[in-house]
Amino acid sequence: MPKHPLQFLEIPRRSPEKEPAEERIQHFGEIYGSYDGADAGAQAGRCISCGNPYCEWKCPVHNYIPDWLDLIERGKLFEAAELSHQTNSLPEICGRICPQDRLCEGACTLNDGIGAVSIGNIEKYITDEAIKQGWRPDMSHVIDSGKNVGIVGAGPAGLAAADVLARQGIRSVVYDSYPDIGGLLTYGIPPFKLEKKIIDQRRKLLEGMGVRFVLNTRIGDGLDDSKSFNSLLADHDAVFLGMGTYNYVRGGFPGEELEGVHEALPYLISNIYRELRYDDDSIPFIDLAGQRVVVLGGGDTGMDCNRTAIRQGATSVQCAYRRDEANMPGSRREVRNSKEEGIEFLFNRQPLEIVGTDKVTGVKVIQTELGKAGPDGRRRPEPVVGTEEILPADAVVIAFGFRPNPPSWFTDHTIDTLPSGRVRVATLGEHKFQTTNPKVFAGGDMVRGSDLVVTAVFEGREAAMGITKYLGV
Ligand code: FAD
Ligand code: SF4
Repeated sequence: MPKHPLQFLEIPRRSPEKEPAEERIQHFGEIYGSYDGADAGAQAGRCISCGNPYCEWKCPVHNYIPDWLDLIERGKLFEAAELSHQTNSLPEICGRICPQDRLCEGACTLNDGIGAVSIGNIEKYITDEAIKQGWRPDMSHVIDSGKNVGIVGAGPAGLAAADVLARQGIRSVVYDSYPDIGGLLTYGIPPFKLEKKIIDQRRKLLEGMGVRFVLNTRIGDGLDDSKSFNSLLADHDAVFLGMGTYNYVRGGFPGEELEGVHEALPYLISNIYRELRYDDDSIPFIDLAGQRVVVLGGGDTGMDCNRTAIRQGATSVQCAYRRDEANMPGSRREVRNSKEEGIEFLFNRQPLEIVGTDKVTGVKVIQTELGKAGPDGRRRPEPVVGTEEILPADAVVIAFGFRPNPPSWFTDHTIDTLPSGRVRVATLGEHKFQTTNPKVFAGGDMVRGSDLVVTAVFEGREAAMGITKYLGV
């Protein structure tokens, strides 16, 4: 039956249930429910199929959004899953953790008071439900090329490259130093945003497509590492690097070395190891139960630290950020979730010092006003004289982001980096994402700097197409 042309008005935007804050902070599981087929179809039917779909343009991988919404409305689940995988290697993951409010849904024509189509939740539904019903990627037409590629890093960039290569008939072996795949999806992003069983499910799909994972294996100069880059080059016809960015940005103020001050990523990882029940003495559990916690930083990592501390049973969590709320880099959804879960935000506060003698007792902050825009186009926070105060704290988590950490052995292999440490790659021509060593391609955070899962997926996919051309497949 043809849909009613005003369905987008008659059926309001409705997201799946979200667990109430007081219940969800008792555990680390995902907080959102899922659509059933009827809800997904009704919500997909709200799309007005714009001639020029802004959602699709705004999406970094240019998902065929109106087309898979149409398939879901017509109940064609497996076709929607196939189509969704034509542009995105990890749609069920992007459906969960992309900041849709500033990407596809932010650009949706209906996002002007009517309510954007709930694209993220439908994207998640398509792959989750299709897998549940037995869908697997269609590899029936794939012919083995006889070529094979070594991939360093099992994060979103590496996984996306492996997915596209497999569909081109190119085998790949993905190496990672962690015991599991996922990169920051597993060892960074907390399970209340993305449960680890979702990544296991993706691992099975990729293995079913012929991708091989070699884990607990660090690629490097061959001295302290498990496998040398030389032997990797010898074993494979081409190499893709998706190694991420892991240099923690420091505050540069006194007191950062005090006991009770933690870097965000080790803090989050220690909690994830605990949740996954890994037994590893080198990653001691950082428990903030019963403590007054101050989180410094307003990005996604800061929000994840806030919400982890609350779930651990912190007495209070304050999050200090040096700009105002409108200028926070974190996803609006995660800021809202943090507020609901009891985090107190202190905007326009710049840390000056972490105070304490042996152990942290507080954070000295000063109020700020936003001044003129800096070279990055963002208005710079300027301290207001005489507004210093001390926030009492038993623990401080520093979440100022990450910078690239290219290993020294890159120079031995003529892999150039930019002054920022990002890997230099070709942006034009046939071999996109090729580094200055023709046999080596790179993508994801190590090329663009810390960013998003979906942009890492995009670069991994583009690089895989570049490798396919380089190998003449
Ligand atoms: P990574 O995910 O970092 O993966 C790199 C992999 O390479 C790692 O597994 C590492 O072990 C491996 N590796 C590195 N060097 C070697 C070596 N020498 N040998 C073997 N293996 C190696 N993005 C979103 O879109 N939404 C979010 O909600 C979100 N939340 C985030 C929360 C946190 C706490 C953090 C830190 C980031 C978040 N991001 C989020 C950003 C997103 O996770 C990253 O942009 C994305 O994971 C980058 O993918 P990547 O494949 O480039 O690198
Ligand atoms: Fe549908 Fe919104 Fe995309 Fe238009 S912008 S095609 S209404 S999802």
